Parts: sequence; C-alpha cells; structure tokens
Amino acid sequence: ETAIPLLDSARERLKAIFGFDDFRGRQAEVVDRVLSGQSTLAVMPTGAGKSLTYQLPATMLDGTCVVISPLIALMHDQLRSARANGIRAATMTSADADWRETQDAYRAGELDLLYVAPERASQPAFRDFLGTAPLALFAVDEAHCVSEWGHDFRPDYRMLRGLMDAFPDVPRLALTATADSQTRRDVMAQLGIPDGGLVLAGFDRPNIRYAIRLRDNPVRQLAALMAEQPGPGIVYAPTRRKVEDLAEKLGAATGRAVLPYHAGLDPQTRAANQAAFVASEDMVIVATVAFGMGIDKPDVRFVAHVGVPKSIEGYYQETGRAGRDGDPARATMFWGAGDFATARQRLAEVDEARRGAEIARLNALAGLVETAECRRAVLLRHFGEDPPAECGNCDNCLEKPGVTDVTELARKLLSAVYRTGQSFGMGHLQKVLTGSEDERVRQRGHDRLSVFGIVGGEDARLLQSVARALQARGDLVATEHGGLALGGSARAILKGESEVEIVVPPKRSKRRRGDSTP
Ligand code: ADP
Ligand code: ZN
Repeated sequence: ETAIPLLDSARERLKAIFGFDDFRGRQAEVVDRVLSGQSTLAVMPTGAGKSLTYQLPATMLDGTCVVISPLIALMHDQLRSARANGIRAATMTSADADWRETQDAYRAGELDLLYVAPERASQPAFRDFLGTAPLALFAVDEAHCVSEWGHDFRPDYRMLRGLMDAFPDVPRLALTATADSQTRRDVMAQLGIPDGGLVLAGFDRPNIRYAIRLRDNPVRQLAALMAEQPGPGIVYAPTRRKVEDLAEKLGAATGRAVLPYHAGLDPQTRAANQAAFVASEDMVIVATVAFGMGIDKPDVRFVAHVGVPKSIEGYYQETGRAGRDGDPARATMFWGAGDFATARQRLAEVDEARRGAEIARLNALAGLVETAECRRAVLLRHFGEDPPAECGNCDNCLEKPGVTDVTELARKLLSAVYRTGQSFGMGHLQKVLTGSEDERVRQRGHDRLSVFGIVGGEDARLLQSVARALQARGDLVATEHGGLALGGSARAILKGESEVEIVVPPKRSKRRRGDSTP
C-alpha cells in the first residue's frame, strides 16, 4: 500500500471543495504542517487566504477544528462561506439559537469547524464539552490579540492557553496579518508554538510606490500628487478638524470631488460619503483612520498620509488599501518633525506597562521615515522577510538621497539646548547658535554662552533638518511649553559615542519644485 503524500490529496481537495487550482503563497506549507500535526504561527497579509489553511485540513482530519475568532460578524461571514463550500460548520455565539443542534453534531463527530469567541473558549464548561468528542485542531484567528506587544491586546486571548493545554495532543494554528518580530515571538510563547513553527510570507505589494516626504504645504503637495496619480484616493489626516479643513481646501484647489469622513459626522453623512467614494472613479476622501476597515474598493490609486501613522503596522495596513487590483498605485506620506514630537508627548500618558512597546513602535516608524535605504526593504524586513536591497519602486530607489554625517552639528545643537536650560524652542536656539543680534538672546545672557555664534555658513541651513532628525529619533524632546529638552541618546551624542546622519533631500530644478513625488 503506497501512501499518497498528504499534500497531494490536499491539492485534490482544494480543487474539489474550493475550486482552486493550486495553493497561493505559503498556504501549502501551512496546510502541510497542520496535516502532520505541527503547531504553527502563520503570518500572512489580509487577503492572502488564511482561512483556507485550517478550513481545508478540517475537512481531512478526524475530529473537529475549533476556531477562535474575536468578532461575531466575522464568524458568521466565515460560517456562510464555509457552508457554501459544503463544509460542515457551526458557530456558538450569543447570537445563535441552535446551540443544542450544534452540540449534538459535535458529539456525533459531524462538525468540521466550530467557531467560538475567546471568552467562551476559556470557560471550564466549554472545555468539558470539547472533551466529549475528538478534536483535530485549534485555530486561533487574529492571534496578535494574545500579545500586549500587539496593537489590539485582548485579555480573553490569554485564557486560551489553559484550554489548549488541556488537550496537549491537539495541534495549534495561530493566524494573523500583522505581527512585528517582537509580537510574533510573544504570540508563539503565549500559545506554546515551538520556535521552528513560524510561517511568514507575502507582505510585499509590488505595485505600490512608496514615498515619504517632508510636509511644507500639504494642500499644494496633495494637489500635485492627485495630478500625477489620477483616480480615487484616500488622504489620512490626524484629527477631525484637519480632515474638514483639508477636504475643503483640497476640493477648492483642485476642482475635484473631495469629501470628509470622520467619526464626528452624523451617521447618514458618513454612510453617504463612504458610498459615494466606493462608487466613484475619481473621488478623493479625506479621513481619520476610522475610515477604510471593511471597505472593498480595489481601484484606490493612492493613499496619502498627512502626518505620521501610529506605527509601521498601521502604515502598512492603511497604505495597503491602495492598488488592490494590482495596477500601479502610490502611498505617499507627508510628515513633519512635530508629528513625532506630538506622538512622543502622547506616550507620556500611556500606561507604564505598555509604554516600552509603544516607544519601540514609534522608533521603528521613525526609522522608516528617516531612512535613505529602500523603503520597501525596510518595511518588509520589519515584517521578518528578507527582501532585496532595492525595489526600484520607492522614492529612495528612484532617486537616491544623499546622507550627511551631522554628528558635530548635532553636538553643537544639543549643547546649546543644554546650556540654555532645556526650555527654548528652535527659533531661539538658532539665533544663539548663529550669533544673532537679538534682544531676547541678549536679555537672557545667551550671547555670553560658549555656544553663541558657533554655527555658520552651510551648517546654519542644516540646523532645522538636524533638529528634525533628532526629534524623530527621540534625542530631542518637546517640553510642555514648546521648548526642547535632551532625551534618548542625546548624552551619548554629546560624549561622542553616537553618530547622527541625515538624509539630504534630492535637489530639484525650479520648475519641478512643487512636485511631491518623483
Ligand atoms: P485572509 O483571511 O488571509 O484575509 P481569506 O481567507 O479571506 O484571506 O481569503 C481571501 C480570498 O482569497 C478569498 O476570496 C479566498 O477564497 C481566496 N483564496 C484563498 N486561497 C486561494 C487560492 N489558493 N487560490 C485562489 N484564491 C484563493
Ligand atoms: Zn525601494
């Protein structure tokens, strides 16, 4: 008797049940691991086809696959599509009236899939119930929720370990679309998945052209982007007021249909604006991050950020709404040093326990914003992939920026910050450093400091960029009164133990000065 390799028979089932000719990306690897009983964390972007990696094995293995999923609506979607494919599936949620039938079917071994919420799964009664029939697999959807490092921690997920440990022979499959390396390690530790159990894949969106630029005049910069990249677009702005303001000015400046979207609009307006955007072929919507989840519009041609997103995960998720149809699309961020300063200030109010993770997240984002390297490479490496050094489709690849070592100048600036008492803003510091004949400088005696007038010529013009870079790195922090103080590794820089480089933006000809993208 020759055994058919498991994966071959899985492929036959793939065609028979789902109608697909082959696996996509690294689905095959995950299915193979599940079929051979190995616990796994699968990290794949949205739309990669994660559900199939447990639904298919569930139809092949003896016993039921229990799926833990955080949202009832999501479970019911999955239930419908699984049943449509002839898979025997059920949900046990507060919204279901057919618990008795479901329990009977489970006990009789007639269920391939059983969907439950984490708070249900962690109850002792549910554990006892599961013990009444064979289990094939635990599938944990949105598994990043188990980690405090993740962006969506849910305490109920912590209880899953107890449930799964009660069935030590049942393999575990954790699934998520977003997990940086720290969250990943934590998810694996929390759920008891061995080190070799990570399958991670397919984060690249090659048709998206990434660009990250300094913001000077966002309306003009966005108008230029819209002219260069026709079609529907999403502009993310940080506050409701900025959303309203930008939508109005951008509409006036371009003559295009530009509508606002934020949680403060009344529900009818919000729904109408969203519907208009989804139906339109050239509309731009200016929105807070509330917009975009669950919106199915494959032909979004650009996603722009005015201000910085919360993290690289957020950036990837938001920019990922561009170009789902595979046609060329743009992701352009317009940032300012103040964005990072504000974000860092907000972190002061964050729970002590979470602050470390949030700071790391912000630093990673600053790294992406400041880099002179390929943006895609930085992005994909953040998600644990090993991409080529250059992609040819981001601002830094298309127009190599120069980098300059500004350690000496940074030291002068930090020293001026220190000597003036860490309470003055950049305007004042610049006057001191360049030796300006200023009334306020003299009044405070800052013209007698050793740092007075020590920066001149070319360097004077670089001061703003250096300050911005130091703020993005967290080495300079804004005080509550708008002054600047030392932070992060400022002291290491002052002692000559740490270097500072800045990206020199590529020079542009006069005619193209207004362009925001290469
Ligand atoms: P995820 O959960 O990773 O966001 P889904 O499981 O919802 O993704 O799958 C996204 C879409 O891809 C679904 O429409 C699904 O039917 C389709 N899909 C999944 N696997 C394949 C495959 N091997 N070939 C073709 N389409 C697939
Ligand atoms: Zn690149």
